[in-house]
Amino acid sequence: MSERFDVVIVGAGPGGEVAVNTLAKRGASVALVEEELIGGECTNWGCIPSKTLLRPTELQGKSMRAAGIMTPALEWPPLSDYRDYMVSNHDDSGKVVRYEERGITVVKEWGRFTGPGRVEAGGRVLEGDAVVLATGAEAVIPPIPGLTEAGYWTNREATALTEIPESAVVVGGGAVGIELAQFLARFGSRVTLVQGAERLAEREAAEIGDALAEILQEDAIDVRLDARADGVRVEGGQRVVTLADGAEVSGSVVIVATGRRPRTDGLGLETVGIEPSRRGIEVDERCRATEGVWAVGDVTGIAAFTHVAKYQGRIAAMDILGDPARADYRGVPRVTFTDPEVAAVGLTTAEEARAHGIEAASVTLDLPTSITRPYTFEENPRGVFGIVADMERQLLVGAWAVAPLASEWIHQAVLAIRAEIPIAVLKDTMAQFPSFSEAFGTALRSLPDAPDEMMEHRAHPLMTAEAVASRT
Ligand SMILES: Cc1cc2nc3c(=O)[nH]c(=O)nc-3n(C[C@H](O)[C@H](O)[C@H](O)COP(=O)(O)OP(=O)(O)OC[C@H]3O[C@@H](n4cnc5c(N)ncnc54)[C@H](O)[C@@H]3O)c2cc1C
Repeated sequence: MSERFDVVIVGAGPGGEVAVNTLAKRGASVALVEEELIGGECTNWGCIPSKTLLRPTELQGKSMRAAGIMTPALEWPPLSDYRDYMVSNHDDSGKVVRYEERGITVVKEWGRFTGPGRVEAGGRVLEGDAVVLATGAEAVIPPIPGLTEAGYWTNREATALTEIPESAVVVGGGAVGIELAQFLARFGSRVTLVQGAERLAEREAAEIGDALAEILQEDAIDVRLDARADGVRVEGGQRVVTLADGAEVSGSVVIVATGRRPRTDGLGLETVGIEPSRRGIEVDERCRATEGVWAVGDVTGIAAFTHVAKYQGRIAAMDILGDPARADYRGVPRVTFTDPEVAAVGLTTAEEARAHGIEAASVTLDLPTSITRPYTFEENPRGVFGIVADMERQLLVGAWAVAPLASEWIHQAVLAIRAEIPIAVLKDTMAQFPSFSEAFGTALRSLPDAPDEMMEHRAHPLMTAEAVASRT
């Protein structure tokens, strides 16, 4: 016998959870199918544990660079306990109860389509007028000879670790590999990072990859660029990784961080006429995959970030509820939570912009020589900031920073790009002094040929000089 719902959601990661919450709040009857843990990869083995683990290493790093403070010691047992608390000890029973108390049916099973509007999960048949696929992505395991036999960690073992390994070889120089490498190195592991491309973060501006390599090397990480892992063997308790040029690096663990693949297998997609590509399930601007089916999050292959999954979860839910929501991906921020942080939005080079037909100009600033905040923040400060502008339309199309707190202050570029705030307005906007945000004005004023005209004066009565003076 089948059970009927307005909506069946498969996958309870950030995308699925936002969809279920948005729908349930508006009174829809919802079944939520989750095979592993509510919260998905982000909550259990991704963003939450990794950022929790990085926090003390960040604080230690910052204190080492600030004047007048002793360097605090890192302590693994309390951090390990706090990480366990943050991932609820990988026990989601409380979350299941809370969903069920709100009238949401939670089915802790693998779900798969058996036909349009029909999902089978653990012998139950769930029928929905709408089905949302939020099945996420999984770690790609590269076909390196000997890797499986030698054993390896993915992000799952690495973020759930109970002891700091004496040494580690991290294969992959994207955000996940870089963050894990810095965390382990600061906790005392001898770390080698093997990156196939010529640079770390190879899709970003060269300055970002170069700055990242320098940062990691300062943590005594052995960064091997343009280096392909060709084989793994176990020798004397160590995993020895052979590189394409014949060099060998070793560690007590090998961590694979070579990307993620959308989870599309075993979902019965053929029964509803969806043919996923290597990138994932293709969706339109309303996150529709086909009649009656929506897809959100990593499985869509659009951008593998929790904020994108959450955004799409809301778009899909709104569309199902009959609201005319459309996804807009102009301002998708990307952050690597190293110390200092690396943050970017939009395009990071003028060349890339020109390849998109944009009449582009870019400015790169050395932050310590451009603004004041770096010197009040740390001794011997460092930091780079860049912007890419569309000179014809007078709009920002990209910004990036390698600097303290960059994950926070990049957001004004996110807003500027998303809302298409004219460069003249951005230039006429005050930034609090001293702050990293001042870099925006400094960079914008360095753009070539940018007209310097002021905005038409339209002061709100509360914003006049007299009104402001009365509040300060
Ligand atoms: C180490 C690491 C750190 C990260 N850090 C960040 C960060 O700081 N910021 C950021 O924005 N992003 C980060 N990410 C990326 C982020 O985790 C993902 O973008 C996000 O989890 C995607 O959410 P999702 O809902 O699409 O899928 P997921 O979180 O992958 O959830 C999908 C869920 O669906 C379930 N599922 C799959 N198939 C089925 C099925 N057939 N039946 C039932 N259940 C099913 C899975 O069990 C899973 O729980 C990180 C990723 C990793 C690996």
